[in-house]
Amino acid sequence: MLKGKVAVVTGSTSGIGLGIARALAAEGADIMMNGFGDAGEIETLRAGMAAEFGVRVAFNGADLAKPAETRGLIEAAIAELGKVDILVNNAGIQFVSPVEDFPDEQWERVIAINLSAAFYGTKYALPGMKSRNWGRIINVASAHGLAASPNKSAYVAAKHGVVGLTKVVALETAETGVTANAICPGWVLTPLVQKQIDALAARKGLSDAEASRDLLSEKQPSKTFVTPEQIAALAVFICSDAAANLRGAAINMDGGWLAQ
Ligand code: NAD
Repeated sequence: MLKGKVAVVTGSTSGIGLGIARALAAEGADIMMNGFGDAGEIETLRAGMAAEFGVRVAFNGADLAKPAETRGLIEAAIAELGKVDILVNNAGIQFVSPVEDFPDEQWERVIAINLSAAFYGTKYALPGMKSRNWGRIINVASAHGLAASPNKSAYVAAKHGVVGLTKVVALETAETGVTANAICPGWVLTPLVQKQIDALAARKGLSDAEASRDLLSEKQPSKTFVTPEQIAALAVFICSDAAANLRGAAINMDGGWLAQ
């Protein structure tokens, strides 16, 4: 379905981003990977994806906390793969603390990576998409883009911001073949969430399984984790022709979290 398209997936060395990159590659898209991690492991992922799906896969290690590097990521995709048709703004970090103790530099970092990078990526990818009259901007927000939890001020603010940014871009592109939408996952078991499970286990003296159950029970009625593959399947749908008039939506896939 996506043969001939080029997708940039930020934060695709791990978790949800890796799942989305693999699903888009399985549909035939060439992929620009991005993210941090061990160079050898990233190369194994890159080469493995290229071989498994028969597509071109490049990697760029831009630090998306830095606007110039986010611009560089888009420019590298254009230079190495020819264009950017699909931009998945997925890279994100979490930091948990009450507002009054929240370290200033953590606030700045969460906002920079989770929100500002989506703005800069969109800004630099959009002109090419508009010139070809086809594009998909998929912002990985969160259930926390639509509802709050205590101690996550920067993350919740950033993710609500991402949902707002998505709506603005959707309106500015409404008469074109470019769409912008947000996916709002509930709990997905990735390194980002494992850290929170570890912290809960340490705080309450629980096993990993008990802490996972506690975490899910608090927010997610299904009491099961959403999987990266399920999120990725939604991203693939957003890239399909059937989704041509899905615009400015914030779609929650969250085990019922936001139904409460
Ligand atoms: P993860 O930690 O597994 O992956 C995050 C990715 O972002 C990694 O590839 C990492 O290297 C990359 N990254 C981090 N900082 C970066 C930077 N400065 N520059 C470039 N890349 C950077 O986390 P995940 O759970 O897969 O999260 C992916 C997205 O999904 C995030 O935006 C997160 O907020 C969102 N999300 C996750 C969950 C969940 O339960 N896991 C729920 C809702 C939303």
